[in-house]
This record gives sequence, C-alpha cells and structure tokens, in this order.
Amino acid sequence: MEDRTHDCLIVGAGPAGLTAAVYLARFRRSVVVVDTGTSRASRIPWSYNIPGFADGISGPDILRRHVEQAAAFDIVPRSANVRTLLAEDGGFTCLMAGESGERATVRARTVLLATGVQDNEPEMPELAEAISAGSVRLCPVCDAYEAIDADIAVLGDGSGAAAEAVFMRTYSERVTLLLSGGARCLSPDDRASLGGQGIRIVEEGIAALARDDADRMVVRTAGGAGLAFDAVYAALGSRARSGLAAALGAELVAADGAVVVDGHQRTGVPGLWAAGDVASSLNQVSVAWGQAAIAATDIHNHLRGA
Ligand SMILES: Cc1cc2nc3c(=O)[nH]c(=O)nc-3n(C[C@H](O)[C@H](O)[C@H](O)COP(=O)(O)OP(=O)(O)OC[C@H]3O[C@@H](n4cnc5c(N)ncnc54)[C@H](O)[C@@H]3O)c2cc1C
Repeated sequence: MEDRTHDCLIVGAGPAGLTAAVYLARFRRSVVVVDTGTSRASRIPWSYNIPGFADGISGPDILRRHVEQAAAFDIVPRSANVRTLLAEDGGFTCLMAGESGERATVRARTVLLATGVQDNEPEMPELAEAISAGSVRLCPVCDAYEAIDADIAVLGDGSGAAAEAVFMRTYSERVTLLLSGGARCLSPDDRASLGGQGIRIVEEGIAALARDDADRMVVRTAGGAGLAFDAVYAALGSRARSGLAAALGAELVAADGAVVVDGHQRTGVPGLWAAGDVASSLNQVSVAWGQAAIAATDIHNHLRGA
C-alpha cells in the first residue's frame, strides 16, 4: 500500500474521468486515475456532434487529447481494474489488479466513479469492423443525422426498440423494426404507433447479421428472407458499470443500473461521486464532460470544507 492518501481516486479514464482529473489537478488536488482501457469513446468512428469540432473528430482522437491534457498535469492513468472499494477512516481504500494480476492498494479521501456502461451488442461476425464502418450503430442521438434518407433498420425488442424506430423517422421514410425476440415483444400501443409512422415490422426473428463489401448490412430472418439496409441501429440497451457503487450501498436505477446522483453528481454514499455514462441515460461525450466538471468542482469544495 502507498503511504500517501490522495485527494481523489477516479475510476475510469474516458471523457468523464479525464475531464475530472484535469479540473481537480487545476484545483491543485492530488489525483490518481485507474482504467481498464475500454472507453466507449474508443469505438466512435467519427463524430459530428462533439461541441467545437465542426469537421468532426474520432473517438480515439478525443481520448488522445484527454490523455495529453492530463499528462501536462503529471496525471497518467494506471492500467488496472478496480475490484473493490472499501469505505473506511473517512475515506476509501481501493484494491486493484493489473493486467498480469499484480495487486495494488490506493487510499483516497474521495472517489469519482466514471466507469461508463457496457453495451448489449448484436451477435454477428466482425462487429467491431461493422461499428467502425458505420454499418452497425449504437447511438441515434450521436449519428442519426448522418443517416438522413438512408434505408435504416432498428434491431431490438419491445417499447425501447419501437421508440427508437419512431425516433429514426425524423431522418428517413425507410425505417424497419427488426424484432430480435419475435412478435410477442410488441404491445398493441407500440404496434399502433409504428403503424402510424409507416414503419415496417419484421416479426419472425433474426437468424444472422452480416456486413457486405459495400458496408451495407445483410439481414437473414428466421424465416429465411434476406434483407439489406444501409445501417442497423442496435437498440438492445446497455448496463451501467456500477458494481462498485452498488457494493458501497449507492442507489441504482433499476432499468439500467445507472448510479443515482444529485445535482452535484453526489451519490448517497458520503465521499462518492459518479459522472458520465455510469450516471446518465443520455450517454454523450458532452454530458460526460459537463457532469465531470460539476463533480470535480463539488469534490474540491467538499475537500476544502466549503
Ligand atoms: C459506437 C459508438 C459511437 C458513439 N458516438 C458518439 C458520438 O458521436 N457523440 C457522443 O457524444 N457520444 C458518442 N458515443 C458515446 C460516448 O462514447 C460515451 O458517452 C462516452 O464515452 C462516455 O464517457 P465516460 O467517461 O462516461 O465512459 P467511457 O468512455 O466508457 O469510459 C469509462 C472507462 O472506465 C473504465 N472502467 C470501467 N470499470 C472500471 C474498473 N472497475 N476499474 C478501472 N477502470 C474501469 C473503462 O475501461 C473505460 O475506459 C458513442 C458510443 C459508441 C459505443
């Protein structure tokens, strides 16, 4: 165990964690950042909705800029998995394991969880390549504008997928809902809403998804039909990486496991904040930035007893 007790431990080095790290460093706080290297931002092929980047920017470039900015304050994320957080002695003890299993313990007065979410992904070969090509998409708020007038499919079950298909009608007249679980997953209300919007529903279940050489998506239904789309939006939901918060007794949203926070990004556990996707249903880089700024400022004020 290190002798030192840091002002703040930040779990996660995505846009939320690294924004908070820079804010706290600029508040002259000692910060340690720990990360397992699976930021969702690393999967953004190219985004046109990041404020300030009119020509767009890739997710890896966003992360590179964050890392460079943090490095200017001597903050280099430690590559390790935070396994356990123990609340004790008015702070936290953090137990982590590196890639080769080596263990370490860090102490901090406060903790910011910026651990993001885990997407529920469609099963298909070369999914990462399909996401990179924009053939499979996970976030209509992010990039539906880039699918205007395209032939779009939404893949999922129930009301969530139905709502996403209706959302896509703002962008295209050709929207198809692919019911991954078959026809039983739609309520009469959903069905009426989809019908009213002219959205085709494929009810028979999906047997296979693939990307062709032109980056179009080829869908084989359970009944053997072959369909092709410019893009498939996976509306399969996500699960917040909130296990550390739950173990400390923080309240979670039942539907997706997101950490419940107040207007300062405080959880109900004294000394524990959460920011970014793990605490938000609008999973966006700009939201992660804003929440991190709010959390870091509140952490600093808390530490100085204001
Ligand atoms: C394909 C795709 C396209 C997207 N496009 C856009 C877009 O165009 N515009 C936009 O605004 N947003 C977009 N997003 C969403 C955006 O990527 C997220 O909103 C953003 O990355 C959230 O930042 P975060 O810091 O909260 O979480 P993340 O970036 O996911 O970072 C969380 C970090 O925590 C680490 N971590 C988790 N648990 C632990 C642990 N126990 N110990 C140590 N480290 C841990 C992970 O390894 C990860 O690095 C897109 C997402 C995807 C998947």
